[in-house]
Amino acid sequence: MTINWFRAVLYRLALLLLLCTLFGLLIDQLAWTLAAGLALHTLWTLRQLLRFQNWLKNHPNELPPDARGVWHDIFDSIYQMQRRDARHRQRLQAVIDRIQSSTAALKDAVVMVDREGHLEWWNHAAERLLGLRAPADSGQTVTNLIRDPRFVSFFEQGAYRETLDIHSPIDANVWLQYAITRYGEGERLMVVRDVTRLHNLEQMRKDFVANVSHELRTPLTVVVGYLETLTDNVDEINPRWKRALLQMQQQGRRMQSLLNDLLLLARLETSDTAAETKPVAVERMLATIRQDAQALSGEQNHRITLEALSDRRLLGVEGELRSAFSNLVFNAVKYTPAGGDIHVRWWVDDNGAHMSVRDNGVGIAPQHISRLTERFYRVDSSRNSNTGGTGLGLAIVKHVLIRHDGELKIHSAVGQGSSFTCHFPLKRLV
Ligand code: ADP
Repeated sequence: MTINWFRAVLYRLALLLLLCTLFGLLIDQLAWTLAAGLALHTLWTLRQLLRFQNWLKNHPNELPPDARGVWHDIFDSIYQMQRRDARHRQRLQAVIDRIQSSTAALKDAVVMVDREGHLEWWNHAAERLLGLRAPADSGQTVTNLIRDPRFVSFFEQGAYRETLDIHSPIDANVWLQYAITRYGEGERLMVVRDVTRLHNLEQMRKDFVANVSHELRTPLTVVVGYLETLTDNVDEINPRWKRALLQMQQQGRRMQSLLNDLLLLARLETSDTAAETKPVAVERMLATIRQDAQALSGEQNHRITLEALSDRRLLGVEGELRSAFSNLVFNAVKYTPAGGDIHVRWWVDDNGAHMSVRDNGVGIAPQHISRLTERFYRVDSSRNSNTGGTGLGLAIVKHVLIRHDGELKIHSAVGQGSSFTCHFPLKRLV
């Protein structure tokens, strides 16, 4: 195409020069006619350029102006290119329209956020659930519109491995679950679901367990109380009943500790930590737990050592931390044969504060480790009934740690022993 144009231009110019030369020779004014011919050609080319510019600028969607020769080819090629472009754009727009109308029909809110955190696009459900308004909120920073601090830190932390459940910014009775995915070059897609029904069911379950535990506590206290009175006078009892009464008393105590653990878990799930938080002297707390553990060990004579390497205080709820730490230490006593070693350690480093309990007891097989913190999960139920455990201890530890921004790490090998380590972030230290 380019070569054709080039040839046509050369041919036209050569023809013009030839005519001007002949005419110049005829009137004996060769230089002037050549100059006039070239000037005319330049003026004509300039005129075509101006028409071209006028068409592109003012009437790009209309047919190109009439032209002949090379200029006709140029106008025509550009016109074809524009038509092709327009068809492409229409096709893309149709795809975008289809995607937008299908996401608009979704019950879940879908929000597109650009790499700077500004709102780009959202569907109808986002207006209903989050109160976004089109077009006023377009381009606004998302954290200015959803101001809940939990959402702000969730949005800014950037990992988005988990979802976040919080109240809707426009209706406190509605629970929303936020899930964020990254795509493109740092853009984010936010999907928000209404999980109010699930939350209400979950709340009912928690309330039910808490209420049943609470209601059972008083009758059980009475039963265990009477059993204690009876067994205190064990000599006066018919020997046939003695064994039964002692077993009833033992199981009654077990039920009491089960109810206490259930109530503690229910409280951990519902109350707010912030109110009760204060600096806790972990070093001193561990010293008393060590003494209690030694008492629990009794004649089994475990060697329980404490290595407290820091006197820094940990911001938290004292009762909850005591519960978590003593669960770990008492477990070590329960699952380590008589005479075994148990080492409790508390230290602080650049990564935060850590408390670990290491024993050389029975150990845990790898397939159980990830499930240990589930409620009522037991590695071996027969072994467990001997220890009088409730199966709730590690669930309590996990909940307490979550409420203290901490994490539980478990390492264990069957027959060699286990180590349970609680990690707390530096911001929790005073
Ligand atoms: P339990 O009241 O039964 O001890 P936990 O939730 O405290 O319940 O522990 C769950 C299970 O984890 C226990 O049944 C036991 O099998 C296992 N476990 C916990 N701590 C240890 C440990 N130090 N050594 C070996 N096994 C352990």
